[in-house]
Amino acid sequence: MTSRVPALIVHGGAGADPKGGREELRAGIEQGVHAGWERLAAGGSSLDGVEAAVCAMEDHPRFNAGRGSVLTSAGTVEMDASIMEGDGLTNGAVACVSGVRHPITLARRVLEAGRHSLFVAEGALAQARALGVPLCDPAELVLEHQRRRLQETQAGTVGAVALDRAGVIAAATSTGGTSGKLPGRVGDSPLIGCGTYAESTLGGVSCTGDGEAIIRVVLARRTLEIMKSVGDPKHACQVALDVLVEEGRGGGGLIAVDWKGRIGWAHSTPLMPVGWADPSQGIVVGF
Ligand code: ASP
Repeated sequence: MTSRVPALIVHGGAGADPKGGREELRAGIEQGVHAGWERLAAGGSSLDGVEAAVCAMEDHPRFNAGRGSVLTSAGTVEMDASIMEGDGLTNGAVACVSGVRHPITLARRVLEAGRHSLFVAEGALAQARALGVPLCDPAELVLEHQRRRLQETQAGTVGAVALDRAGVIAAATSTGGTSGKLPGRVGDSPLIGCGTYAESTLGGVSCTGDGEAIIRVVLARRTLEIMKSVGDPKHACQVALDVLVEEGRGGGGLIAVDWKGRIGWAHSTPLMPVGWADPSQGIVVGF
């Protein structure tokens, strides 16, 4: 069995620069990296690492995922999430779910159950009950600042990509979607290949931004194809972002880890909080 140095990078969504709100975002990103790194450093799997990182950020009220998700035009929360591991290419996802505190954990249970990849709405809630994922009152997920639509202080979606000691890569993405979206709209985040992808021989990717544009260019999987030809995850993220802007006709951002544990990220929006664990510097946060 290989013993590799683990790697982890997380994002808190591509969006506007909240200026005064940066410290809160920093704290949220640090919580995500800390939760994920704790698992990976203890020898946990990359799936455990990305799930823990995303759960921590779903709990943080400033991120558009879990508690604090943006609202639909009907004033409700409808969340999307997906998770994938890159050895068996196994994956799980949920879309349009409300009343679940941690959509990423529900996606993980769907992955483990193994029969289907994606559950939506009521069917996803039935899976949560069947698979033992705690439910909550949907009203608990609706925060006052979202009701008042203080979008300028809101970062986007959350995501994480990790490599574990065994050389397995996993990626996860969780979101409340886009503010004011029509009920029933599903974005890129729960779609494997669009918002999330992992393949241990290449790397893993989590995307954020204009979901319809990300879907148009199948951005996560596309990024790995680009990585295969350019070799370096930083460069690959930059090229993939150009594809999103030019071919997808939208904006956003993405994070990646390659099979060697090297990280990369890029965004076209004014801000995308990111954080990673650096063995010598500890947790590093960038915007
Ligand atoms: N990509 C997400 C969606 O379209 C939103 C975001 O990343 O902020 O649902």
